[in-house]
Amino acid sequence: MSRVQVDDILPLAHVVSIPLTTAFRGLTTREALLIAGPEGPAEWSPFLEYDDAEAATWLRAALEQAFESAPPAPATIRVNGTIPAVPADQVAGLLAGAGMPTTVKVKVGGPGTTLAEDVARVSAVRDALGPTGRIRLDANGSWTLDEAEHAIREMELLDLDYIEQPVSELSDMAELRRRITRLGIQVAADDSIRRLSDIDAVIKAAACDVVVLKVQPLGGLEATQRVAQKALTAGLEVVVSSALETSVGLYRGAQMISWLEGTTPVVLDAGLGTQSFLADDVVTTPLVAQAGLLEITPPVLDMTKVSGLLASAERTAWWHQRLERCLALL
Ligand SMILES: [Mg+2]
Repeated sequence: MSRVQVDDILPLAHVVSIPLTTAFRGLTTREALLIAGPEGPAEWSPFLEYDDAEAATWLRAALEQAFESAPPAPATIRVNGTIPAVPADQVAGLLAGAGMPTTVKVKVGGPGTTLAEDVARVSAVRDALGPTGRIRLDANGSWTLDEAEHAIREMELLDLDYIEQPVSELSDMAELRRRITRLGIQVAADDSIRRLSDIDAVIKAAACDVVVLKVQPLGGLEATQRVAQKALTAGLEVVVSSALETSVGLYRGAQMISWLEGTTPVVLDAGLGTQSFLADDVVTTPLVAQAGLLEITPPVLDMTKVSGLLASAERTAWWHQRLERCLALL
């Protein structure tokens, strides 16, 4: 991959800045460098605060997407809906607007919410979905071990599939699993798997039952398949999720689903229904989920939309410099 030079990429590159519909990680826009590659468009969108070493791993993924062929994605995949940390009385309306997905991920913990509000929000999701709906929680590592155990026991009767990143430390995740083992609620690792090598530590610590995999942060499809294979071999389940990407990046996740479908009998609903967090997109047919289903169309850049979303000259120069630095690391 180091054969690719910055001068090979810049003529193919478009830096875009897309408004978000809901603030996320303190952001109101999502920036990305798109590459109109010979194998199709590619997305490079490491978050702005990430250092070059981490951004270079994301770049590996983008170069793979732009320059290497890969099997197509399935025509349709199943995805979860998402309920952010909103008051419980907004839940029914949000789920109705999303066409009532059968699997819903609910954000819990973190700043701006209390346990009582979390319980009310998750209860409202259960009420809206009925008994057959599937609920997963995501605490983004915001609880202490004791807070996590307490919260999960409070919500035990709401029939939860798993709780994603209840605590941040692997040792606490492992201890939490032991404490809640009889409740039948699984623990998922998301933020704990940021690099390829993290999966080994997660398996060794027996820290989770499910791993959440994001293709771009892990360095591409091939790298993600290697992580997934290790997880599956260790008896863990795998969920493919997005890194708040445009439909170009989301397509990569859908291609990972294609691999999983050929590898495991059960493919859990993916966290790829995140297009609605972006106020706009860069492709002719955005990958928008409805009723828990995502119809997949291979990405084709819509150059009118891309032109309308181009970042400022200053931000474009910042991305070009970042590209040059990160390419040198590959
Ligand atoms: Mg998560």
